[in-house]
Amino acid sequence: MTSGATSPMNVYKLEPDVAAGFTGHLRATHPWFLPGLENCSGCGQTWSTTGLEYPCVDLTEFPHQAQYRQPRAEPQDVLTRLTEQLRSWLPAGLLLEPGASFGPMTGTARGLFGEIHLPVPWTLCMYREALERLQASGIHGLQGCRLNVRHRDEQAPELWELQLEHHGHFHPDCLPADRKPPCPRCGVESYDLPDPYLLDAQSLPTPVDLFRLADWPTLILATQRFVDTVQQLELDGVVFREVPVR
Ligand SMILES: [Zn+2]
Repeated sequence: MTSGATSPMNVYKLEPDVAAGFTGHLRATHPWFLPGLENCSGCGQTWSTTGLEYPCVDLTEFPHQAQYRQPRAEPQDVLTRLTEQLRSWLPAGLLLEPGASFGPMTGTARGLFGEIHLPVPWTLCMYREALERLQASGIHGLQGCRLNVRHRDEQAPELWELQLEHHGHFHPDCLPADRKPPCPRCGVESYDLPDPYLLDAQSLPTPVDLFRLADWPTLILATQRFVDTVQQLELDGVVFREVPVR
């Protein structure tokens, strides 16, 4: 639900508009992955990141791409080798963590999709027309690529997935006071999503209107400008819930 306020600091979480009754369903995955980390020698955890998705980074031409097809966990030395081998081929500056995924989602689609569609809370798709209208309206940070999906209805609209940057941090007051420092070896931090969570105003505003929270990349967030534009264009499929900022 949106408020009437128009502060540039207002931030909203995108959620599916379940009341709208859309039936669209994707059975599709990204074709390439960095493995998860198996049994970290520092903290003992096996883990991978969810929500680090690069749909626009296609590894088809990468000579070692076959090593990245199978989602799995690997020991640190193997993971490091695979990460650095890929990093040397990619454009500089991409954040690479265990479990990152690459390439256009591939599979099948059925049913009727909203113009903006969250197949899972951490993946954002929209009709190509919706993406183009938002870009034409001056919304910042919209990079997308076409899904590689077959739809039984050949007239179904073309779906694109957004590749989102990571910005913004939790306010320290909402984090558990007794949380452990990050693992010195793998960097993983272990705490549950704070409930309720609060964003740090000093980490906002962001340079883009649609982003993942850097501290919790499964959270897809939008600025007031994005929300206002979606409503002006009457795009359907999602609702917006304001996130507190301090
Ligand atoms: Zn660790």
